[in-house]
Formats: sequence, structure tokens, C-alpha cells
Amino acid sequence: MHEMALTQGIIEICEKYAEGKKVSLVEVEIGELSGVVADAVRFCFEACCLGTLLENAMLEIVETAGIGCCLDCKTETRMKTIFDPCSACGGYSISITAGEDMRVLSVEVEDED
Ligand SMILES: [Zn+2]
Repeated sequence: MHEMALTQGIIEICEKYAEGKKVSLVEVEIGELSGVVADAVRFCFEACCLGTLLENAMLEIVETAGIGCCLDCKTETRMKTIFDPCSACGGYSISITAGEDMRVLSVEVEDED
């Protein structure tokens, strides 16, 4: 399950950002075509956070839609998997333009007082 490694990566980024403060909220973007399962990340997050600055932090996952541009007919097409054909011409020469990434969007840390 590679979500475990990815989740640990998220936590590392947040800890670096937090500089010793407690993290209260983490917002993560997961693209529909990234191959990452949001529920698996949620599950791993809770386990991986124990004993870190992120313990008890909220995890907000923003799922972004997969979008590709057909190289044959230049139509922008909605993709649910990276193997989807163009919705207009049925071609498979598609360049993915959105929804391939997973990244940390924002990190909120608790005020010190
Ligand atoms: Zn097309």
C-alpha cells in the first residue's frame, strides 16, 4: 500500500512547515488520476500522526477531477482513469492536463498562546 509512504511524506512536509508548533489542519489535494485512494490516505493519516506534531490534526482532502486534452480533435475531455478515451472522437492520444497530482495545499498551525 503506497498510501502509507505518501501519507508519511505529507506529514514530513507539514512538520517542516510547522517548525515545532502543533498542526491543527492539513489540506491535501488528490487528483482523480493520481492513483491515490483518498480513503486509504485518511486511514493512514490517523495512524501516522500519532506522536507527531500532527496528532489530532484535521485532514481535509480535496479531490480534483481528471481532465485531458485530446491530441487528435483538441477537445477537452473528462477522465475518470488515465485509460479513458476522448469523449468526442474516442481516440486514445490524450495529454492529461489536470488531476494527476497529489500535494499539500495548506497547513494550519495552532497559535502559541
Ligand atoms: Zn478526440
